[in-house]
Amino acid sequence: MAFTSVNPATDEQLAVYPTINRDQALAVLDRLDHAQQKWCNASFEKRSRCLLELAKQLRDNAEEGARLMALEMGKPLHEGRSEMEKCAWVCEYFAEKGTKFLAPQPFPTEAANSFVAFEPLGVILSIMPWNFPFWQVFRFAAPALMAGNTVMLKHAPNVTGCAQLMTRLVKDAGFPPDLFELLVAELDVVSDIIAQPQIKAVTLTGSTRAGRAVAETAGRHLKKVVLELGGSDPYLILADADLDLAANACVTSRLINSGQSCIAAKRFIVVAPIAAAFTQKVLELMNNKTFGDPMAGRFDIGPMARKDLRDELHHQVEESVAVGAKRLLGGTLPPGPGCYYPPTLLGDVPLNAPAFREELFGPVASIITAKDEADAIALANQSPYGLGAAVFTADRARGREIATKQLNVGACFVNSFVRSDPRLPFGGVKDSGYGRELSIFGIREFVNVKTIWID
Ligand code: NAP
Repeated sequence: MAFTSVNPATDEQLAVYPTINRDQALAVLDRLDHAQQKWCNASFEKRSRCLLELAKQLRDNAEEGARLMALEMGKPLHEGRSEMEKCAWVCEYFAEKGTKFLAPQPFPTEAANSFVAFEPLGVILSIMPWNFPFWQVFRFAAPALMAGNTVMLKHAPNVTGCAQLMTRLVKDAGFPPDLFELLVAELDVVSDIIAQPQIKAVTLTGSTRAGRAVAETAGRHLKKVVLELGGSDPYLILADADLDLAANACVTSRLINSGQSCIAAKRFIVVAPIAAAFTQKVLELMNNKTFGDPMAGRFDIGPMARKDLRDELHHQVEESVAVGAKRLLGGTLPPGPGCYYPPTLLGDVPLNAPAFREELFGPVASIITAKDEADAIALANQSPYGLGAAVFTADRARGREIATKQLNVGACFVNSFVRSDPRLPFGGVKDSGYGRELSIFGIREFVNVKTIWID
């Protein structure tokens, strides 16, 4: 068997990658397991040095990484370069902070000494999506390696070239061999791997559907799981909001990565008195956005990553229009090759529309009008997802109250759009998953929190 990668801008085949079978996968797993038994004894100083060198490798190879992302999944080159820089940052962050985050923590009791030690778990299976091919991997792998674990990476098949480059960069950074290895395999082999005793935990970033399947397999074998899943982030625009700020933040967030981001602004929920003015501003901003082949010039958005994903998005748009949403911009399939979808704006989106109920993973913004602030909050929470949210209001105290107490999500930003940051925990509630990445919370997901009592 083999995976074929296709350039979504041109429909041209890029490469064919042979997959490995169960026995070959088990051999890779054995190597990772042996390597982990030595790596867990490496000093924090050594781990930190390797991570700093990895940051340098990521910067030195930023052009190559950006080019591969553009070719394999259509990311504009400027966004690819930023992604490589962010990966370097997360490596530096955990190189600097990891030792402190994992230092034994005293818990005084009547014992002569009682404390908690944070010990590595072992080999962690990491199942990753194509949308931020480097960032999703390194935001997990940097803390996992710093904590003394090793990483088996099952990446999305369409970004196998990116996955191969990251393996090379880890090796070139001077990490000992066999700490970070690829599992280029079919899903039945992945399931078999989860069951192996050497796999101590699984992390998955991807759709809720994939999260449920992996959690089920992992649960059967009692493996710890962290799940970073889909989202349909609500952005609340209250009556006293700065409308230019709000419209800009909503549109910027919605179109990052050609709209293929879990934490993109997906439902713009605006209170009635300002709905018309806000809609006009959003329409003007969306209308100015360009799309095209990332290798042919600088465009705001590239093609979507795969044709099936574009077709699914278009179906959701059509269904939404069929139940009453207004097509204010875009929403039609462009002729010619490639997986392009134009910036699209839907207005007056009703609650039974896919644009309200489901995740729209592409450059489609949905405006929902709320009666008032209480209605806006209720609509925001009326979703199976709970990843991120944002509130726009001139009243910071009110924004803080709504963000903290009233929205059922993993992260809420006031007067800004949601983004991930190595210094802050990242993750969701409800169908958006569980567990956290980044910050002290992320590095402590894949450790044994070990209690020590000495009399
Ligand atoms: P996907 O289809 O769920 O795939 C993600 C990864 O999971 C791929 O490597 C995929 O491999 C694998 N996978 C799927 N089913 C599996 C199974 N039964 N067993 C083992 N592995 C399985 O998602 P996607 O289309 O690549 O990414 C888009 C989704 O990811 C969106 O819903 C988005 O919101 C979410 N996402 C969430 C976050 C977050 O941090 N919360 C970040 C980015 C993306 P195959 O392709 O080989 O099936």
